[in-house]
Amino acid sequence: MLTLDSHPSGRHFLQIPGPTNVPDRVLRAIDNVTIDHRGPEFAVLGKAVLAGMKKVFKTQADVVIYPASGTGAWEAALVNTLSPGDLVLMAETGHFASLWKKMANKLGLKVEFLPGDWRHGADPAQIEVRLADDKEHQIKAVCVVHNETSTGVTSPIGQIRQAIDRSGHSALFMVDTISSLASIDYRHDEWGVDVTVAGSQKGLMLPPGLSFNAISAKARAASKTAALPRSYWDWEEMLAVNPTGYFPYTPATNLLYGLHEALAMLFEEGLDNVFARHHRHGEATRRAVRAWGLEILCLNPAEYSSVLTAVVVPDGHSADAFRKIVLERFNMSLGQGLSKVSGKIFRIGHLGDFNDLMLCGTLAGVEMGLGLAGIPHRNGGVQAAMDYLAKPPDAMSSPS
Ligand SMILES: *Cc1c(COP(=O)(O)O)cnc(C)c1O
Repeated sequence: MLTLDSHPSGRHFLQIPGPTNVPDRVLRAIDNVTIDHRGPEFAVLGKAVLAGMKKVFKTQADVVIYPASGTGAWEAALVNTLSPGDLVLMAETGHFASLWKKMANKLGLKVEFLPGDWRHGADPAQIEVRLADDKEHQIKAVCVVHNETSTGVTSPIGQIRQAIDRSGHSALFMVDTISSLASIDYRHDEWGVDVTVAGSQKGLMLPPGLSFNAISAKARAASKTAALPRSYWDWEEMLAVNPTGYFPYTPATNLLYGLHEALAMLFEEGLDNVFARHHRHGEATRRAVRAWGLEILCLNPAEYSSVLTAVVVPDGHSADAFRKIVLERFNMSLGQGLSKVSGKIFRIGHLGDFNDLMLCGTLAGVEMGLGLAGIPHRNGGVQAAMDYLAKPPDAMSSPS
């Protein structure tokens, strides 16, 4: 810790929805000597992480890895597939969808932004109607954020694919899975996604610094004629050398060691078990929030996020003052409300390398903080979560 004048004992609770807690195994893997990225040893690592990421994306198609935060992979998705002035349909699910839209505008794309209230996911029916209306196929891409990290709402990607198919439209389908990949079930091939965007520091349990594109054959074909300028992000440069395990420029070697270890951990646990664990922690958290008598920002239970829960603070109270108390008293970071919901909500991250007792500690910190901040609530949230978590495993799958 660099800035605190006294060292807080015990472990910091990093319960923001990314970066997430980095497991010791991953930290130790990163702490290896940096090798020659053009030597024989590197090729083994390069091939292994690319193959592992295909399993996580559930794709047979191409995957590229950038030394960049998720924002870089957003840009790569757009500049590799589109041309200046192209029309793109995006869905306003929250802050991250709004940032992706802003980027598209900056790059010279026209964006039609389907308005949202930040409490629901992208609506397949609304997308279908708009696409069916676009007889000339002016819309070149549909872009959706799978898990909107600013609100705790998950959009139904498989249903949106079906809606696009029903409309008979040829637009590319691009999905941001930066906060859902490796935490919530995701199927690049089965859902016919053309470009999937992901990042390292959320479900993949790594530090920030890596991001990903999974690329369908249709997206790769589109890239041959797409005219937006690109150089660093150019898929072809990557795909030309990746099959040999190498990269066109210096890769983030030590983060790739970490990725190799994180993939091993995910496959040891089993992806389905990882998804079930996140689902269960989401449910336990929501039971706590209801017991406190507070409101969950997400209004549609079918769209509850398994990776974070955004909690609305009653009018006249500051979510940020509450978060400050929790940080100072209990050494726990909670997510802040971003832009439109700044100060009005706080976000509990329950993703990544996380277990039942870490969740109980997290919720205990929230419950004590609510009391200290004078936010009207009932006690008993932690108890409600514990009652759920302590159920025998076979009683677990029943819906709340
Ligand atoms: C975190 C996040 C981003 C931004 O990624 P960076 O790594 O901060 O560039 C974009 N979209 C979603 C859904 C996110 O959760």
